[in-house]
Amino acid sequence: MSDDRRAFLRGLVRSAAGQAGAPQEARPEPAGLSDAEVERYARQLVLPEWGAAAQVALSEANVLVVGAGALAAPVASYLVGAGVGRLGILDPDEVEVSNLHRQTLHFTPDLGLPKAESAAAKLRFLNPDVVVEPYQVRLEEDNAAALIEGQDVVVDCSDSFATRYAVNAACCAARVRLVEAGVLGLQGMVMSIKPGRTACYRCAFPAAPADAPSCADAGVLGPAAGVVGSLQALEAMKLLTGVAPALTDGFLQVDLASAEFLRVHASRRADCPDCGKL
Ligand SMILES: [Zn+2]
Repeated sequence: MSDDRRAFLRGLVRSAAGQAGAPQEARPEPAGLSDAEVERYARQLVLPEWGAAAQVALSEANVLVVGAGALAAPVASYLVGAGVGRLGILDPDEVEVSNLHRQTLHFTPDLGLPKAESAAAKLRFLNPDVVVEPYQVRLEEDNAAALIEGQDVVVDCSDSFATRYAVNAACCAARVRLVEAGVLGLQGMVMSIKPGRTACYRCAFPAAPADAPSCADAGVLGPAAGVVGSLQALEAMKLLTGVAPALTDGFLQVDLASAEFLRVHASRRADCPDCGKL
């Protein structure tokens, strides 16, 4: 990078910090970032809401993405692209041809490979500065606590209610912040959870629906998963940096057939088996 280019980018970041309202000297200088980081993240660093402080916070964060499918593709791509410190991605399955219309981290030559490895390979190309750790394992009640330990945020991109409840219970027990989501057909939901402080997934949904169809039965369109996964990525970035209030104490119901978003309130339940005693 030329000296002129470097000075230009640092100037942009400084001026954006000044525009945010706080005295310029009170805001962290981009000096905490290398020249390569200033160039790579220039378009988010110039955002007054973001800046060097958020960038540094993100670069120090550990995130676990549960699942390496349709929701995980935008979640992991945006978090790795934005410069998260370390991203673990877990999935027990291999890439199948029926995944490819919506799971954009997997390509036709990846058929038969472990999905976690396939995803990690693309993510490392996207941003070699991020530590990406693939795990070919299914998150279940008996291994959830060990997998979640030490995470700053868990993003649940799984496709079953059993996994969602196991992730929620483990995150509540460990007080690890969580972003839940689901998508089916043209409908979806997104919810951020700060255990012990805001309603958890089980507070909002005490029991799984008895006859919930799966993606295999009911179908799902790729862009619908892309929208919901992108919302999930944004929620994770909000939780990690405080750049904007996270979507807590309720969930966002997303209807992509009618293009309507509905914010649904949920409260903590004293009798919640996962977070009631926190
Ligand atoms: Zn709860």
